[in-house]
Amino acid sequence: TFNVVIARAAENGTTVTLEKMSVADLPEYDVQIEIAYSSLNYKDALAVTASAPICRRLPMVCGIDLAGKVVESNSADWQVGDRVLVNGFGLSETEWGGYTQRQAVKPEWLVRTPDAISEQQAMAIGTAGYTAMLSVLALQDHGVTPVSGPVLVTGASGGVGSVAIMLLAKLGYEVTAVSGRESMHDYLRQLGASALLPRDALSARSRPLEKEQWAAAIDSVGGQTLATVLAQTKRDGIVAACGLAGGSDLPATVMPFILRGVTLRGIDSVMASQAHRQRAWKALASTLDFDQLKLATSVKPMSEIHSLAADLLAGQLRGRVVIDVNA
Ligand code: NAP
Repeated sequence: TFNVVIARAAENGTTVTLEKMSVADLPEYDVQIEIAYSSLNYKDALAVTASAPICRRLPMVCGIDLAGKVVESNSADWQVGDRVLVNGFGLSETEWGGYTQRQAVKPEWLVRTPDAISEQQAMAIGTAGYTAMLSVLALQDHGVTPVSGPVLVTGASGGVGSVAIMLLAKLGYEVTAVSGRESMHDYLRQLGASALLPRDALSARSRPLEKEQWAAAIDSVGGQTLATVLAQTKRDGIVAACGLAGGSDLPATVMPFILRGVTLRGIDSVMASQAHRQRAWKALASTLDFDQLKLATSVKPMSEIHSLAADLLAGQLRGRVVIDVNA
């Protein structure tokens, strides 16, 4: 038997508990993984605290990420011993996820863990870091270069924000970080931010068009913040919208689009194609500074998942949290 974090239907909603399970309980998918680490993302925190209906099928093993080794395979593409990871593909939503020591998965969900990246580093990146990379690639594909001007990152001390800052700074961009926590300013500068803005500088109601400031932005906050970012984006700039930590509404006008040619680009990591995933993981392996990633990462036991999830939602964590499923 092994340990799992599982959501079950209860009288008044959903309960999430740490339980024992055996291999016979796993789904009948072609590849079985011995998991070393998972991670804690915003969506995981919502699932574990049952504060949003993330788990759409119950019982559900939580955890949207996993990294480990293949221990059984009926797929020609994967051999026992292969180092693999999964991000998204409905894990913890419609498919059993990574908060377990063993899981069975579909072969087409797997990404080969790059040689340069350990299991623990892969989960320090996790969905949040891979989403940050997808966002950076969107900016690059749009033609934004370091000479285009400063790039804004909102939700800066969170998982997506922290990795986005590291990647952009490493690629030579000038990064302005938006954070609600003054205590994070030193940390954000260490990651590579050259300027900092308080959260309320963007969360107050904005005019349809404001002074052009940003060549591009990576926004994990949404709501009024995203509307303000759009109003401050330079002509022909791009905003990658990847999150809703501040709200899922968008109280914006079309003015930035029709008068400045601004592009609003959605980022979806969950159902991204294999080609897109592989491109992102390859770019992560060659771009990330792994010492910096370590500075942004804490490794925590799965047995503490409930308090960790509550802390994340209370805005008390920073950067990335790796979950040790064997502890
Ligand atoms: P996280 O670690 O909790 O980071 C979120 C950050 O946003 C916080 O650290 C905080 O940064 C800021 N924040 C929190 N509450 C806020 C509020 N009410 N108003 C403004 N800012 C607030 O979460 P994450 O894992 O990085 O995820 C960030 C967002 O991206 C989530 O909404 C998540 O669902 C989304 N996401 C989407 C995808 C995708 O595929 N599109 C993938 C991964 C994540 P400061 O304290 O520095 O202000």
